[in-house]
Order: sequence, then C-alpha cells, then structure tokens
Amino acid sequence: MKKYNFNSGPSILPDEVLAQAARAILEFNGIGLSILEIGHRSTWFVDVIEEARSLVKELMQLNDEYEVLFLHGGATTQFMQVPMNLLDDGETAAYCDNGIWGSKAVKEASLFGNVVVAASSKDKNHTYINKDLKIPTDSKYVHITTNNTVEGTQWHSFPDTKIPLVADMSSDIFSRPINFKKFSLIYAGAQKNMGAAGVNLLVVKKDLLGKIKRPIPVIMDYRKHIEAKSLLNTPPVFAVYVALLTLRWIKNEGGLKEMERRSIEKANLLYSTIDSLPIFTSHIAKEDRSNMNAVFFLTDPKHEEPFLELCKNEGMVGVKGYRTVGGIRVSMYNALSLESVQAFCDLAKRFAAKHK
Ligand SMILES: *Cc1c(COP(=O)(O)O)cnc(C)c1O
Repeated sequence: MKKYNFNSGPSILPDEVLAQAARAILEFNGIGLSILEIGHRSTWFVDVIEEARSLVKELMQLNDEYEVLFLHGGATTQFMQVPMNLLDDGETAAYCDNGIWGSKAVKEASLFGNVVVAASSKDKNHTYINKDLKIPTDSKYVHITTNNTVEGTQWHSFPDTKIPLVADMSSDIFSRPINFKKFSLIYAGAQKNMGAAGVNLLVVKKDLLGKIKRPIPVIMDYRKHIEAKSLLNTPPVFAVYVALLTLRWIKNEGGLKEMERRSIEKANLLYSTIDSLPIFTSHIAKEDRSNMNAVFFLTDPKHEEPFLELCKNEGMVGVKGYRTVGGIRVSMYNALSLESVQAFCDLAKRFAAKHK
C-alpha cells in the first residue's frame, strides 16, 4: 500500500532524489564505482560538494562574505559548536527559548559563556513565539530557532537587531525565500528538508569568526573547515550527495518561491480543515502556526487512539505527536505532496463524521 509520509525527521524526500541516490550506490555517474567507494578528495566528490556549496549560495542569494560548509553531527552538535566558536568565557549571548530545541541550545551555550534568555514562551508551554526580545547590548549574538519542529510554531518575520543573528533552521530550511543576509550564521541538520541524516549545513558570515581567545579543537573550528573547503577530514560523502540531489530538485522545481507557494497551500488546507472540525483543537497561536509541522489535539482525548489507529490503517505514517507533547503532528516538508495533505484531511473529515 502507498504510504503517506508525515514523518518529522528523518522525513520524506522527493521520489527522483531517492531513485538517483539508489542508482549512485550501485554506480556513480558511470565511473564503475559506487558513491560509497570513492575518495572524498577525488575530483568526483570535490565536484559534488562544490556544486552543493554553490547551489546553497544561489538559493540563499548570498555573496562572498558568506561561507558554506557541510559538517558532521546533527544540529545538536551546533548547539555546542556555535558558542565554542563565537562566545568567550564571561561574554554574553542572547537566546530565544521558544521551544524544546531552543531550550537545548541555551543549555549547551551556557557551558561556554554567559547566556541570557532574551525571550521565552515557556509560560504558555511554547504554544506561541515570544517575539519581544530583550537583548543585552553587549551580546555577541542572538540565537533563534526559525521553526519549532516539536511544538509547531514558526517565525514568519525576523527580529531587527544590530546584534548578529544566529539561527537553527533545521526544520524549515529552503521552504521559503527569506532575506538570508539578515543572518550571520545559519545551521540546519539535513534530515528534515534537505536530505538524509548525517550532515549539517552551516552558513557563516566570515567576519563573525576569529574573535575569541579560546583554543578550539581543529575539527570544531569553523575557520579550519573554511580553509579546507569543507574537506578537513572525511565528510559524510553519501549524505552530502543526497543533499546535492535535493538542492538540484528544489532549484528545478522553481526554487524557494515555489517551495513557499506549495507550503502555504498545504498548510492552509490542513489548518482550515482542522479548524472546521470541532473534534480537533489547536493550542497554537494562529499567527505563529508553522507551515512545516502542524500540531493539534483531539478535543476529547479518548478519540486519540482510534484516530491514530485509522491513520495507521490508511497508510498515514508519522502523525503521532512528539513524546513530550502528545496529540497529532503532521509534518509537511518540501517533498510532501498536496495530495497527501488532501488524503489526511479527507480521513479527518470521515473520522469526525463518525464520532460526532
Ligand atoms: C531535529 C532538530 C534538531 C536536532 O537535530 P539532530 O540532527 O537530531 O541533532 C535541532 N533543532 C531543530 C529545530 C530540529 O528540528
């Protein structure tokens, strides 16, 4: 049976990306070797990573003030690597705590310097985005999470500040055209919207680096990775290749504008359906709703189990809410079709009609 993949991450990828990736495992570009068997310093792979780096810059419309790196570890590694590179002992960084991933970033940064929570939505269980930032003027940077994957909230416009803006964009990277130049550093684990698990995208404005005294282990030092053009050690070759295929797919489909048009269409359909059915309820502030991850509940908790059972029987995968939040979460990343959202909405309506 055809599955509808609403997984929150790792998540759905375009069929043609999967087909190309599968072919490359058997034989890469007709060279008689698998992508898994080639050296990372071979021209074959150097071409892959260079094309991926330049596609990122093109999609984000960034100039040479910025560097693009593909690094090991998930976004969680960046919770530590960002402050290690940008924040000296005793210096201050401002963090927005609008969700579980932001909270984790705060905790890690606290190991390196003085962390001030500039805004938090903990008072209402992270069901909205607190945009009222109180940023100490001596902050080295401000950190936000552009899309709160677990709670289902998203920044729809970004704070104006003279302090360098750092963003975890793991779950909405390349889903919309934004003014990326507003940010001094962007990171994203690939496995939600741009590929397979195992690689991190890092985009950094070069003038942000080299300002701290702390010695940094080579593998953690952004400047060393820049010098080595992202080939400091063996990168996750296959994951970088899948990211390249996904970037090409995004560009060929019409770029970020088209990704956004599709996202809005899917999210509008989903939210208008949920809002029209009293059997469902959403606690998320409407203006902060995420176009990537819709989080909502069955109004009567006893309906949750049969609803999830029905989803399972009809091939809808990944719709159970995050373990600490519960309820339902429908993730609508770039590769998810409008038809999948339509199928979910049809199911939700049938369920509602039966459980009046
Ligand atoms: C998934 C996610 C992370 C964690 O990613 P890992 O690759 O598991 O480290 C961090 N931030 C956000 C916003 C996420 O969605």
